Amino acid sequence: MQRKFFRDDALVLRTYKLGEADHIVSLLGRRSGRMRAVAKGVRRTSSKFGARLSPFGHIDLQLIEGRNLHTVTQVVGIDLYGKRIAEDYQRYTAACAISETAERLTPEEHEPSLRIFQLTLGALRALADGDYPPPLVLDAYLLRAMSAAGWAPALTECAICGRDGQHRAFSVSAGGCVCRNCRPAGSTHPAPETFLLMKALVSGDWKSATASAQPVRNEASGLVSAHLQWHLERSVRSLAYVQRTELRSLEPRSLEPRSTESSPTQRRSAVPNESMENH
Ligand SMILES: [Zn+2]
Repeated sequence: MQRKFFRDDALVLRTYKLGEADHIVSLLGRRSGRMRAVAKGVRRTSSKFGARLSPFGHIDLQLIEGRNLHTVTQVVGIDLYGKRIAEDYQRYTAACAISETAERLTPEEHEPSLRIFQLTLGALRALADGDYPPPLVLDAYLLRAMSAAGWAPALTECAICGRDGQHRAFSVSAGGCVCRNCRPAGSTHPAPETFLLMKALVSGDWKSATASAQPVRNEASGLVSAHLQWHLERSVRSLAYVQRTELRSLEPRSLEPRSTESSPTQRRSAVPNESMENH
């Protein structure tokens, strides 16, 4: 059988152990979309490309096409963000949530998704560079990725009737802000600053975003997570481990007004290894 080679630049979303010495690598390729490939012998210390295939790196690689799994034959590091991300716990937990979301938003293998690729690359680079607080980088990524997927939360119009304006209520099931007339039962009333922060994150206004207060950030994170998980119809496991200065629960009840400010004792401190491997 003729072996078919192909080449792409890609982001390493995560790796899984395979047998004694190999890894399966989950990749998001610029042209190829999401794909999985076997990297043989990478867990041996003599491996040429073990480090280049660590999670969160931007790499250029050559593969042999397989029916389900490709095989990595060459890897060149373009920007290996993994080390700088792993040095900081907040960066690391945010990167895990970004990678998991990128996988969820690209369920079909080999469907090109250039916008998600670019957003994911930009977010991992921002985490590695440390220019902004990691939880804000994560929430900006989630908002923009949801927009690329076609279901951004409505922030400047009513999600139900479309009337323009800054409406005060928010309904996850309705799809974002809702006006007084449409407001479904169970809508919440976040602080106006929370909507301002979400809009700043969508538009890349980092000056406003970084000036926001912690309770506002927590409330925005709660809305963003709830909106994301509602549309994915399941939870994004890594989001539960994101280290925020003041951690809030991800249960729907955390969307009740102001409850996000109340529980500093809920801080979680462990990320299970399987978010990087085995899983
Ligand atoms: Zn309305």
